[in-house]
Formats: sequence, C-alpha cells, structure tokens
Amino acid sequence: MTHPARRTQEGWSHPKDPAPGALNVVQMFVNSDDMEEGTDEFGSVEQTAAWLFAAGLLGEHEAVTEADRAQAVAVRGALRELLLANHERVPPDVAEARAVLDAAAADAQFELRFTGAGESQLVPTAPGVAGAIGRVLAIVFDAMHDGTWARMKACRNDLCLWAFYDHSRNRSGAWCSMETCGAQMKMRAYRKRHAAARS
Ligand SMILES: [Zn+2]
Repeated sequence: MTHPARRTQEGWSHPKDPAPGALNVVQMFVNSDDMEEGTDEFGSVEQTAAWLFAAGLLGEHEAVTEADRAQAVAVRGALRELLLANHERVPPDVAEARAVLDAAAADAQFELRFTGAGESQLVPTAPGVAGAIGRVLAIVFDAMHDGTWARMKACRNDLCLWAFYDHSRNRSGAWCSMETCGAQMKMRAYRKRHAAARS
C-alpha cells in the first residue's frame, strides 16, 4: 500500500501533513529512509551529498565521506527513536539515541549567537556534514523549546515509521495516515481479536 502523497515529480519527499516551518526539514531528513518502499536517500555518499545540498544544509563543494554518510544515518535513526517516544505518556528509554545526538551536537561545534533584539540562535560552526547535521539539530532544539516537537511523531506501524506532524487537537495521532496505516493496523488488531476469540 503506497502513500500517494509521498513523492513529488522531483522524487522529493512530500509528506501529507508537513511539519510547520523549519521542522519540515527534520521531517524530510527522517523520511529520507523510506521503510515502506525500501529506498534510502542516504544509500551512497553521492546521494547523501546531493540530498543535504538540496535541503540547503550543505554547501555545493563540501565533501562527504563514508564516515559522514554513516553519521547521517545514525543521527537519522536516533531522531526517529525520539519521534517514536513522542507517542508515549511515559517515554521509553532513549538513552542510546540521546548519546548519538549528544555526540553529533559536540561535532557540530555550536555557538550561541545573539542575532537581534530578543533573538538568539544556535549556530553550528563545523564545516561539512557535521555542520549540516548541526543545522538539523538546531531546528530540533528550537522545536523542543517552542512546543512543536511534541507533535512530531513516527508512524506506529512498524513497517512504515514515516515521520509525520500530528495536527490532531488532543495530540493522539498514531499513524502517518488513517487511510493507509490506520486502516491496516485496525485490521490487524481486528484479526488478532477474532483469532483469540476462536481459540
Ligand atoms: Zn504509516
């Protein structure tokens, strides 16, 4: 079952419920790994460089190594763990994910800049992919402080895990889409109940 709104003609991730503002970059970063379609936009060094450049996170002539690519993949996985934890009233242990992000933040070499009256910004000063990842983490930092982060989630369908922004009033959204994953998961629960009733 394919999500029809997933891709534009350019092949760019196009979530149905885009996260507001810069948070959309984080959403696309996580969704660069499409579990359902089995495609990974960080599948090679060249792909990773092209993606980060297109997202405005990396300069055109900044080099990407295999270690950089692995780091982007690790950070992406850690962010997805945090998005899954946003479903829970009592969040699961995400210590491992936090350690990955802490290390990436250290590599990004953040500076706090006062950019205007009443405005400040975390700016990564590291060049290359460390800086590009830093720009993603700075958006996460801002979202955690303005309250939008709690609405960023990963779909609870474990075959999907698509990052979506939960627009529901009571923040109870569990699936990237009711029509696809929601229906699929409800059907699975229904079958399980019936199987249990028969035995
Ligand atoms: Zn889903």
